[in-house]
Amino acid sequence: MINEKEIYSGLDSREAERRFKKYGPNILESKEKVSPLRIFLQQFNDVMVWVLIIATLISGIMGEKADAITILVIVIMNGILGFIQEFKTEKSLEALNSLAAPTAKVIRDGVLKVINAENLVIGDLIVIESGDRIPADCILVEDFSLILDESLLTGESVGVNKNSKNKDNIFMGTIALTGRGKGKVISTGMGTEMGKIAGMLKDIEKDKSPLKEKLDALGKVLVVLCIGICIVVTITGISRGHDKYQMFLLGVSLAVAAIPEGLPAIVTVALALGVSRMLKKSALIRRLPAVETLGCTSVICSDKTGTLTENKMTVTEIFYNNNYHRVEKDSVFPNMFLKKAVTYCSDCNVDYGEGRIEKSLSGDPTEKALIKAFVKDTKDIKSMTSKGKRISEKPFTSERKMMSVAIKEGINTNLYLKGAPERVIDRCKYIIIDGDAKLFTSMYKSKILKAVESMSFKALRCIAIAYKPDINFKGNTVEYDEKDLTLIGVAGIIDPPRKEVKDAVFKCRMAGIRPVMITGDHKNTAFAIGKELEIVKNEEEVITGEELDKLDDRKLFNIVDNIKVFARVSPNHKLRIVKAFKSKNNIVAMTGDGVNDAPAVKEADIGISMGISGTDVTKEASSMILLDDNFATIVSAIEEGRVIYDNIRKFIRYLLSCNLGEVLTMFLASLLNLPTPMLPIQILFVNLATDGLPAMALGIDPADIDIMEQRPRPKDESIFARGLKEKILIRGTLIGICTVGAFIMGYRYNMDLKTCRTLALCTLVMSQLIHVFECRSERHSIFEIKLFTNPYLVGAVIVSIAMLLSILYIPFLQKIFHTVALTLAQWSIVIFLSSVIAFINSLYLLLWNKRR
Ligand code: ADP
Ligand code: MG
Repeated sequence: MINEKEIYSGLDSREAERRFKKYGPNILESKEKVSPLRIFLQQFNDVMVWVLIIATLISGIMGEKADAITILVIVIMNGILGFIQEFKTEKSLEALNSLAAPTAKVIRDGVLKVINAENLVIGDLIVIESGDRIPADCILVEDFSLILDESLLTGESVGVNKNSKNKDNIFMGTIALTGRGKGKVISTGMGTEMGKIAGMLKDIEKDKSPLKEKLDALGKVLVVLCIGICIVVTITGISRGHDKYQMFLLGVSLAVAAIPEGLPAIVTVALALGVSRMLKKSALIRRLPAVETLGCTSVICSDKTGTLTENKMTVTEIFYNNNYHRVEKDSVFPNMFLKKAVTYCSDCNVDYGEGRIEKSLSGDPTEKALIKAFVKDTKDIKSMTSKGKRISEKPFTSERKMMSVAIKEGINTNLYLKGAPERVIDRCKYIIIDGDAKLFTSMYKSKILKAVESMSFKALRCIAIAYKPDINFKGNTVEYDEKDLTLIGVAGIIDPPRKEVKDAVFKCRMAGIRPVMITGDHKNTAFAIGKELEIVKNEEEVITGEELDKLDDRKLFNIVDNIKVFARVSPNHKLRIVKAFKSKNNIVAMTGDGVNDAPAVKEADIGISMGISGTDVTKEASSMILLDDNFATIVSAIEEGRVIYDNIRKFIRYLLSCNLGEVLTMFLASLLNLPTPMLPIQILFVNLATDGLPAMALGIDPADIDIMEQRPRPKDESIFARGLKEKILIRGTLIGICTVGAFIMGYRYNMDLKTCRTLALCTLVMSQLIHVFECRSERHSIFEIKLFTNPYLVGAVIVSIAMLLSILYIPFLQKIFHTVALTLAQWSIVIFLSSVIAFINSLYLLLWNKRR
């Protein structure tokens, strides 16, 4: 139970620790984890593999025991390889999920901390702000116009008013729509209302990757094709009088080797590995399919404050007493009115233990900047807040662009207000001149407007500050009007652009991606910063929310592609902006932080939320979280998205052309009435040596050098587009021809069948191992891409070659795989036939690229 005395204070961390140990974590009993055994068994969940195993067993009983055992060993090794991939993928996805876990704002040891919601205990005092998802069941102990969305529990989508006077309960999982408050945790984890129904909630369905689905479909077609060819090969073999069981085993082995059953799995692996690479660059992916879409992004709609800029604000100018004043860095502008207004009209948290003002404040950067500029130290704040108590407030919203508070100071109640100048100035009737309130004449007004104009052109964010003494309440409620105010002054705040952003914008331009700025700030301020970052060139490319409201959808449709900056917009404009860009066939990435941004973030092709300043609701609506709130991170995520898609194309190209080569080898040989050029066991060996490690290594290949100089790929583009299909067909055919060529060559030189087969085997393996390097780039030749930028691939190829050499030169393996040790002359045939095509092709590419 909670103690009455501690109801308004938080726990200390030692007590919290003790309770955590006693009551356990604040989590809902989670879904079952995938067991390693199940993943392993899933590797054999394939009809063809079972047919192979059974056929092997039969042939083993009938004769060649060594063959049968080897085939089984190869099948198991393949399974282990698949298991390692998938298990690693599962683990890294699990790690991602825990990173995306919800957080809670809690007061511990008297200071506000953000902790993992899991660590919340009964008795904790939590802070609730709009956009938060309530992390545990609480009693509300303080509230300012708090409205919750309880639809998750009640199904009722209307917001519910919650009041601390009635000791209202608030429940885990519900969402704070507006207002703020504090709550005392009364139950956690399975003890919450949510916990009671947790069993009823189904697991959220795993998002399906569209690419994976397409590949699944393709896989089915390939299975049918492969099995068809295998049947042909088997039947022709039998009709020519070969041993029936041997031919059947051959057909099945060929099917197992040639069907790219691992394709969809490798796609998941590539996506998951890419996702962990993105994480290292501070982009946290919440939905796997977003990775595919990222590479298609053609427009990035980015918030200005905090994403393009540093969100480290400093007041540099103040227009006060009808005059400009510079505010020097680290100095304080002395003025009683300003000091009181910025202190009272702010939601910053102050740590009084810390003397230095710049270290003691936590909260909104704009407010921190104002307090730093006008208040000397924390003692000042303490004495002010002890004399004045906030009894009511109208919170800041991005729609209102201002906020006000009613403060009871002694017997009087005064109003303090701050906000965007256009919103504030028209509400003023007086202005402070020489310490007294004078009538706000048009002379004063025009001077103020000029000041705002000139500050905003200097990229300064302007905040007008005003007050109203002795406000009257209507009746005994604490309602007041924000009218007839006295203007104190206008502060100009600088928020420098992040230094990485300019390069990122340039990169976007090269990559055919349009960066667009969206901000609640003044048009001039936005334009000035946009120009500095080279997002925008001239003023026609800037539009304000007000102008936007005057356009109907058709007009917006016509001009939207020319707009680079949206200024003075509210979150509800964002949805229109996303839709307009989308209707122009753009793939839109949109950032957001506040609750009201959630619909636009959801609507965007890539919804992006802020890790630092973002609200829970927006994070949940997003498909990617920027852990560092940085625009440049979006661009590197897009680059990574392109790399991943490229890599998927790379190993599809590699696997399919190799498998086509294998099938064609057998098919051509049977067409030409030759003996079978390879034995089942050899085919399975080729599959193990070439399909496994090298294909995996391609999945983590680094970016092609000019990846960010290509235009974004259309979203509905086929995976085989841009010539990939042709490349696969031609190359696969050539591999088949060369392999059969090696076999025939051996025949011509009167070598025995074993040697001919070994020649074919080596040519097939070497062709593939050379081709894998070609697959690293679609536009550049082997000579242009640096070999060692993918050490994994080099390693994988070395392992494969070592495997090949051991079955050729180790007598025991020679016997098992029916091979012979090749002579140098024989090797030269192999090397020539396996490299000639790659050589010609690369030379051609090199010359073609040089000419361009
Ligand atoms: P953005 O996030 O794009 O910079 P905001 O919606 O935060 O836009 O701010 C819009 C305008 O609201 C600012 O230009 C400023 O004039 C005003 N403003 C911002 N923060 C505050 C605040 N804490 N209190 C009062 N006014 C504010
Ligand atoms: Mg803001």
